[in-house]
Amino acid sequence: MPRLGSWIEPYPEGIYVRPADAWIDPAEPKPRALITHGHGDHARGGHGEVWATPETLAIMGVRYGEQKGRPVAYGETVRIDGVEVSYAPAGHVLGSAQIVLDHGGERVVVSGDYKRRPDPTCEPFVVVPCDIFISEATFGLPVFRHPDTGSEIDRLLHRLHAEPARCVLVGAYALGKAQRLITELRRRGHGDPIYIHGALERLCRLYEELGVPLGELRLATGVPKDELKGRIVLCPPGALNDRWSRRLPEPITAMASGWMRIRQRARQRNVELPLVISDHADWDELTRTIREVAPREVWITHGREEALKHWCMTHQIKARELNLVGYEDEDD
Ligand SMILES: [Zn+2]
Ligand SMILES: [Zn+2]
Repeated sequence: MPRLGSWIEPYPEGIYVRPADAWIDPAEPKPRALITHGHGDHARGGHGEVWATPETLAIMGVRYGEQKGRPVAYGETVRIDGVEVSYAPAGHVLGSAQIVLDHGGERVVVSGDYKRRPDPTCEPFVVVPCDIFISEATFGLPVFRHPDTGSEIDRLLHRLHAEPARCVLVGAYALGKAQRLITELRRRGHGDPIYIHGALERLCRLYEELGVPLGELRLATGVPKDELKGRIVLCPPGALNDRWSRRLPEPITAMASGWMRIRQRARQRNVELPLVISDHADWDELTRTIREVAPREVWITHGREEALKHWCMTHQIKARELNLVGYEDEDD
């Protein structure tokens, strides 16, 4: 009897699904790629055909130009050579999917990146029971417990209102985090225009086109200092400390990331107001998900694999680490 999942072959540059002759989230250009979501460490340009949700294809189109796309909607099942393939929501960013593979009576779920907390910008994670669950472990340590998102947003708004002569400059990843932050602010009653760095514009516009309203956004570049007082300004994390931000009125530097739980990381970026808002599962979400999915084996990718592997073993679930290259944790 062959080993469970012997038709799925992990290589450093990606997961190869032999009977479909396809790669999942490959780090190098491949003739056929199945893509979980649009973040740069999962979706790269230059593939032959790209099988992904329509939203992920649209995001890749913005980043890399037109794709030879094969759209697969959530819940639809397609056959790729000898494998039945479907995409289930992962709750990570707009269009993010777990790729469900059925072959030879075995089911493998490649979850990509995921989270379990509500996110108004994307479909919630769906539990898909399977034999092998391939999980990320970005925050795979028991110390990682993300706080309630609403309370982090309230801290931001409180600070904004407390210092009306300044602006709050928030570093947020351009895909997913920025739009989620804007939507959460709107939900907390913040109706003022939100100012954005030019690098966020195209993806914000795409989210709106795909049905995620963001309220009034204005480009921050070239706006007089006085107009920006008492405003929220969003930029990619890389722009937080660069020349661009020096033209703002005494910015209170904030950043929205799961890594803000670590003081050292906040200090490195001179972040005065760290907001712990993550698009990845924290320790409790990871272990809850594995319990609910109830796989026979867990294969663990990018992150702190060791602790999660140990947790699996103490819960009588076989676990192994996959040493994939090129995954970054900066997308949080
Ligand atoms: Zn991601
Ligand atoms: Zn990732």
